[in-house]
Amino acid sequence: MNDRMLAKSDLSRWLAALAAEFRVVGAVSDGGAPPAWRKLEPGDTPVLDNLRWVMPPKEQVLPGYEPLFTYCARKGEEEITSAVPAEEPTLMFGLRPCDARSFAVLDATYLDGRFSDPYYAARRAQMTTVAYVCESKRWSCFCSSVGDPVEWVKACDLAITDAGEDAWIVTAFTGKGEKLLEAGGCMSAATEAACASRDAIWEDLARANEHFDAQAVARAVDWEEPVWAEIAGRCTGCGICSYLCPTCTCFDIQDEECPGGAIERYRVRDSCQFCDFTKMGHGHNPRPGKKERTRQRLSHKFKYWPERSGISGCVGCGRCIHLCPVNTDTRKIIAEVMGVHGQ
Ligand code: SF4
Ligand code: SF4
Repeated sequence: MNDRMLAKSDLSRWLAALAAEFRVVGAVSDGGAPPAWRKLEPGDTPVLDNLRWVMPPKEQVLPGYEPLFTYCARKGEEEITSAVPAEEPTLMFGLRPCDARSFAVLDATYLDGRFSDPYYAARRAQMTTVAYVCESKRWSCFCSSVGDPVEWVKACDLAITDAGEDAWIVTAFTGKGEKLLEAGGCMSAATEAACASRDAIWEDLARANEHFDAQAVARAVDWEEPVWAEIAGRCTGCGICSYLCPTCTCFDIQDEECPGGAIERYRVRDSCQFCDFTKMGHGHNPRPGKKERTRQRLSHKFKYWPERSGISGCVGCGRCIHLCPVNTDTRKIIAEVMGVHGQ
């Protein structure tokens, strides 16, 4: 670990220096909308607080709409044009610990060793990560109940932590992070007091109200759990809990004719909470009701993912709790599952 200090007034100068080498992406609130991840333009100030919920960063690796290829057949000649994006050095600036961890969960699906998704792989290939360590948890956060957010931060290249009114303390964990410290000559030596306030924030972040042992939860999640029917009874099926979850990966593939006669194949974000998601061509739907769909979503996060990849599919970001229109609370569901079956 290598610590430096950055005056808050020097943040835009540092970002400008980083932009000479990277496409720097941060969460920005445009016109009062919830902050969303996009390339930072000169003068943009990324959101670096945990007061507002932020759109998930997965849009940067799994766009909601993504062309896969176009197919064209003219006068007996066939042509397929791939839409795999070019690799580009990208710096994700200000990832909250949960969002930083979400990339590890997505990697387990899209780069699992047996199959590698070339579209996802191209976007991940040259990614550098800078975490922003939250000074406090929002009411819906439960990262430290499902894992260790400080370890998630340390898996990034660099982290910034608020060291008081005037400065950030900037900590490098990798060689790439060390190089970022040098950009623009903006940093000064870290003081002991700043390191102490950084440590206090990190310790606070790691402290969980309630700890859910991922393996114990995986063992307790049961197919016949009564809680699935309870959630389904009030769920409206809006799909927000999965659509904006940073680790949810459902998509649909469609073909459409473009002007000029070429056919574009593209994928669009989808949700396992939508009734047609598993409907098959012959009409059968193996998950016909909200009970089956809810069971799938939560079992996938808390049982199938830990069993198959050894990590929790939920990073405790709290978006599904914050945004559910009927106040379904994932924390209470896990607690209920654990209470019913014990640890
Ligand atoms: S299930 Fe909810 S809390 Fe967990 S990662 Fe998804 S949106 Fe966040
Ligand atoms: S956000 Fe709430 S209401 Fe909407 S699908 Fe999820 S559990 Fe159901």
